Amino acid sequence: MTEITIAPINFSNPELIDKIIPELKKILAAPTNINPLTTDLSFAYSVERRQYYSTKILQYLLPYSEKLTGKFLALVEVDLYIPVFTYVFGEAQLNGKVSLVSLCRLHEEFYSGITDERLLIIRTVKEILHELGHNFGLIHCKDWDCVMHSSLGIEEVDIKGIDYCESCKSKISF
Ligand SMILES: [Zn+2]
Ligand SMILES: [Zn+2]
Repeated sequence: MTEITIAPINFSNPELIDKIIPELKKILAAPTNINPLTTDLSFAYSVERRQYYSTKILQYLLPYSEKLTGKFLALVEVDLYIPVFTYVFGEAQLNGKVSLVSLCRLHEEFYSGITDERLLIIRTVKEILHELGHNFGLIHCKDWDCVMHSSLGIEEVDIKGIDYCESCKSKISF
């Protein structure tokens, strides 16, 4: 079974990771290890957008995955973008080893000012599973119950299911 390395980068709340992992494992029964990183991400920062260019971070992380047989998923707290979008929740290499998820816009505080840790955990697990799905070769799915449904806004993250649909599941081998 594919091992998943989760790398929180410059993470301010390591305890949150401990709460995310058990929820993740309910869906994805893969061996998981945590590899926190402290690294300067300023190379990816856009002064005009005041956000970080997701693809540059993904490319920067490629060497970290080289020795691994499994997948390498980085978690960041900074706001991510790619040029065609205002923001992205994450990015992944299709059929690759590396993916990236930002918690910045998964916090309910970002929208309503209300802290909801449970919701943050569920949203984060969904986005982790979604980006890993791309690593496993899955493309976006039309089924709203499926975690591979695209989500451009937070409402769509909340509406879509937390698990892969049967069709998507059948296309991946963990
Ligand atoms: Zn996607
Ligand atoms: Zn699906």
